Amino acid sequence: MSEIERGGVTFRVDREACTGSGSCVFHAPETFDQDDELKVVVLDEGGDPASAVTAAVESCPSGALRLASAAPAARPNTQGEAR
Ligand code: SF4
Repeated sequence: MSEIERGGVTFRVDREACTGSGSCVFHAPETFDQDDELKVVVLDEGGDPASAVTAAVESCPSGALRLASAAPAARPNTQGEAR
């Protein structure tokens, strides 16, 4: 299992869970490819815009691509102002 980060969001890539649908390659062809067994491989973590990587992850039917963590939202400081 590996992780990639785009736009402050971390995604998990689980090749064992990949069923080879190719949806991720359709949405983010510069980021993802498939090997000879049709399992997902990461070509270039920064290959596509974050929106394309998000679309790829959301289209994955097997859960092989998943959201791992999002950037924390701005929290107010003790004076109640956003940092
Ligand atoms: S969309 Fe998911 S199941 Fe399909 S090839 Fe990519 S990682 Fe594998």
